[in-house]
Amino acid sequence: MNYELVIGLETHVELSTESKIFCSCGGHSAANEPNDCVCPACSGMPGMLPVMNKRVVELAVTAGLMLNCDINKYTTFDKKNYYYPDLPCAYQITQLNHPICTNGCVTLKTSAGSRDIRIKQIHMEEDAGKLVHGGKYSYVDFNRTSVPLIEIVTQPDFRSAEEVVTYLNKLKSMFRSGGISECEEGAMRCDVNISVRPEGSEAFGVRTEIKNMSSFEAIERAIHYEAQRHMDALEFETEELVQETRRFDDASGKTMAMRNKETESDYRYFPDANLMPIIIDDAWLDEIKAKKPAAVDEKAEDYRAAGISEKEIDMLISNHKVSKLLDDIVAMGCKAKDAAAWILTDCAGILRKDGKTLNDLTITAEKLFAVTSMVDRGDINRNAGKKILIAIIEDDVDPVAYCKEKGLDKKFDASAVEAVIEKVIAENTQSVQDYKNGKVKAIQALFGACMKELKGAGDPAVIKTVLEEKLK
Ligand code: ADP
Ligand code: MG
Ligand code: ZN
Repeated sequence: MNYELVIGLETHVELSTESKIFCSCGGHSAANEPNDCVCPACSGMPGMLPVMNKRVVELAVTAGLMLNCDINKYTTFDKKNYYYPDLPCAYQITQLNHPICTNGCVTLKTSAGSRDIRIKQIHMEEDAGKLVHGGKYSYVDFNRTSVPLIEIVTQPDFRSAEEVVTYLNKLKSMFRSGGISECEEGAMRCDVNISVRPEGSEAFGVRTEIKNMSSFEAIERAIHYEAQRHMDALEFETEELVQETRRFDDASGKTMAMRNKETESDYRYFPDANLMPIIIDDAWLDEIKAKKPAAVDEKAEDYRAAGISEKEIDMLISNHKVSKLLDDIVAMGCKAKDAAAWILTDCAGILRKDGKTLNDLTITAEKLFAVTSMVDRGDINRNAGKKILIAIIEDDVDPVAYCKEKGLDKKFDASAVEAVIEKVIAENTQSVQDYKNGKVKAIQALFGACMKELKGAGDPAVIKTVLEEKLK
């Protein structure tokens, strides 16, 4: 018999906020040592109360807008009770009854064509801490406790591992470009729910849930393994399928049972009376909408229309900081294509020499635009622009002052260049003689000497013309 794969995903995404969800501790990425980012509130000391981080609501709403969800004006928190050493309050604050976003949809482009995946809901919650096992003891690190998460729950609409990976990549690039999450390794974790059913059948089969997967490659392997296990069970009655929670073992490539599937009542959910309901009124929603970046597809389309290459578009879409810098200098008047070259080629190249990447770029839009506009106006040539760029990236100099100080602007016009050329001609009599004797190539040596004299800041076209004139 032929079987159809049915998959639904629950994806946890760590939000890029400056502080945790219910206290003012920094996000855990700021922490260096275990438990150096912990306060009485997030370590569950008696009497401490949660205070809602407004930014979490804004980022959750932005994610909901990007995934075409309804934004619920009334949203509340619930306590999910269970005991585990990495959960200091013995409950997790999450949303059950009134999640912030519902009924969304995302369209995927896969080899099977265009596919719509329905989003059941997005809710906000806090992360748990981490247990570190070593020798005889286990240690607990609360740095990650109360780091804000959104959980995005889909309907069981995926029909292949390929669709799942396409969806996750799309979420990742959307969330990066939207400043919602950097989605680094481990900051995006999935529970993968899988069942199979005979092709053409409407009824769902028994599902299992593979917990806590973060590598896309492992997710793909886990889905293949688990789907085959289900099909074998149905086809050859190798085992009885039960609804349960499983984990994927990377080394063996197999999934193993962890525990029977817990149900809602196992967690004794109840409303968290320590947190007021959040009301998202129209004014606030409009404010969030106005700040929401253009959808990824839309944005890629704009970049394409501006003549930016596909490779560059990929780099921009996956890096919010860089695309924002580009958008900012384009808004100031730089041509999009030039802006892409300045940032993705020049800045990236300068950083690479120091073993850094564009993520380390700290140049402001104002300084970068000062450079690109001086070049566009013809005040300096591109070479000089690049020199200024290096000085900005390395020493954060003021571009205009630096340009004046180094005399980079003067070396551009013909009259200033003339004096240098005369000097070079006077000093290189042999090359001049060669040129006059018909050895045209000798001009290259003179040209090189001029560039050297001008420390690379001269405009090649101007130098060539003036040089040829003088030699005549
Ligand atoms: P629970 O409350 O038990 O976690 P949900 O209804 O919230 O169940 O569903 C959890 C996830 O499981 C959702 O992403 C959903 O799409 C998926 N899911 C539900 N039924 C199936 C099924 N038969 N096969 C695969 N995935 C399923
Ligand atoms: Mg669930
Ligand atoms: Zn804290």
